[in-house]
Amino acid sequence: MNKLKKYNKKRDFTKTKEPIGSISKRNKKLSFVVQHHLARNDHYDLRLELDGTLKSWAVPKGLSYNPKDKRLAILVEDHPISYCNFEGNIPKGEYGGGTVMVWDKGTWSAAHDATESLKDGMLKFTLKGKKLMGSWALVKMKDDNWLLIKENDEYSSDKIDLSKYDVSIKTGRTMDEIASEESK
Ligand code: MN
Repeated sequence: MNKLKKYNKKRDFTKTKEPIGSISKRNKKLSFVVQHHLARNDHYDLRLELDGTLKSWAVPKGLSYNPKDKRLAILVEDHPISYCNFEGNIPKGEYGGGTVMVWDKGTWSAAHDATESLKDGMLKFTLKGKKLMGSWALVKMKDDNWLLIKENDEYSSDKIDLSKYDVSIKTGRTMDEIASEESK
């Protein structure tokens, strides 16, 4: 439970519908999710399954297919693997209060040993999702600040505007539609 202590401590589960944090068994194929999270700041969260939890980065501008874009990615607390399916609203005033969309989901693999790569501050990885395909690198700068950069491969492009892909891959809903669900 230790790795999710921070996650559980930040949240009041009598108020939020987010899953209570518990360590899971490893999936055969490691899962990843990118959530669009409209809280105090509009951002995306990249989460990669590793050793029973989701390693998580908040990415203010989201991912890019253009290898020239260097996107800031801020390492945040581990999340439970069940968070991959969380879509909905976190009540105002609670931690992360706002709207969460399952923007993309799939499996991922690391180019080298993932734990060692994270320790070294250079994680090269491949995503197999619906919107995201191909290889990216996470490069540690300082403290919790990393850069997320597309690698050159058959998927890289400077012509794809990912902000146009703005519906949930789980439910097909827009952020506005998700936001209005629980205020009914
Ligand atoms: Mn977030």
